[in-house]
Amino acid sequence: MTEISKNTIEALLQNISFPGKSINLVEAKAVTAIVIDAGNVGIVLDFGDAAISSIEGSKGTIEATRQGVEKAVSSLDGVNQVNVVVTASKKPQTGPGKPAAPKATPAPPTPMEIPGVKHIIAIASGKGGVGKSTTSANLAAALSGLGYKVGVMDADIFGPSMPMLFNLSERPEIIDGVIQPLVSNDIKVMSIGSLIDIDQPVVWRGPRVMGATQQLLKDVAWAPIDILVVDMPPGTGDVQLSLVQNAPLSGAVIVSTPQDLALIDARKGLAMFQKTNIPILGLIENMSYFICPNCGEESHVFGHGGAKETAEKLGCDFLGGIPLHMEIRELSDAGTPIVIKEPESTFAKLYQGIARDLANKLGL
Ligand code: ADP
Repeated sequence: MTEISKNTIEALLQNISFPGKSINLVEAKAVTAIVIDAGNVGIVLDFGDAAISSIEGSKGTIEATRQGVEKAVSSLDGVNQVNVVVTASKKPQTGPGKPAAPKATPAPPTPMEIPGVKHIIAIASGKGGVGKSTTSANLAAALSGLGYKVGVMDADIFGPSMPMLFNLSERPEIIDGVIQPLVSNDIKVMSIGSLIDIDQPVVWRGPRVMGATQQLLKDVAWAPIDILVVDMPPGTGDVQLSLVQNAPLSGAVIVSTPQDLALIDARKGLAMFQKTNIPILGLIENMSYFICPNCGEESHVFGHGGAKETAEKLGCDFLGGIPLHMEIRELSDAGTPIVIKEPESTFAKLYQGIARDLANKLGL
């Protein structure tokens, strides 16, 4: 299958008009993010507050444009799934040829501490599909099993998976403007997936996507907890960078598979945290080896040890390897991560070992 590129998508969006205007979406600078992950495309359109209230028949027109984009991008070669979200935060350019205002370089924001939250750690990966969410859920469960008060924040806004991993389908309650996290096995869980109605168009007013992740951090009643595990969006783009710069992170864990390519991506993940002076707590190699479900034998189909070597080269710790095993996948799909369902199993023990190591590193 052809690999889809941002340029192809951008070229296509030049054929779609900004709602109610004679300029296209790209000219109007309404396309604020394009995220591509193995044929799955996430697009953020920011129509601006003023425009949203002034567009005639506002909701219908905006939704028609959103659907138009989804349909057009879906028809491109190499695209599996498209998720287009509309936000409303900035003032769009109103006419063609109008010079853009000079961009001031924003000073890096100073992350604010969140009262009652002792540590926040980011679980990141250079690309999607390496098992970052599965690892986040199991590490959270392992930390909780060690007796810590734990929260999981699903910041993977384009593919939120925590509601599925923890089998949580209900809506969170909002009390006095504060979102109450859902709770599963003593773990507080909040995901953008629990806030949006997947079947309804998403129009986030005010803050954009970055704002949405900020909201998950600041407007949720997390306290009191010892450790908040943040499942980051895959990759090293703007969304990830903004989240990293805005959250008072104690450290980051990088998840990677042994394949070389993934390791190159993992290096990018490492570089992003190093640039922002966030300590790297270590590297986890997921799907590190394959355990035959019939004979129980271990095989290193993917060339084992890549993550360990990379970690050594880059001067960060190797936290451990987790095998590729059907049980890990099946229990995740069933909404009961293996550490919760089978805490005494060999696999659960691997996650528990890493969790203990992390807690030590954080001085908990
Ligand atoms: P990411 O968050 O990096 O996109 P996920 O955690 O969603 O990745 O994992 C992708 C798929 O791989 C899921 O179906 C998950 O159940 C499966 N998976 C993750 N880790 C393992 C593992 N160690 N063994 C077997 N399946 C796994």
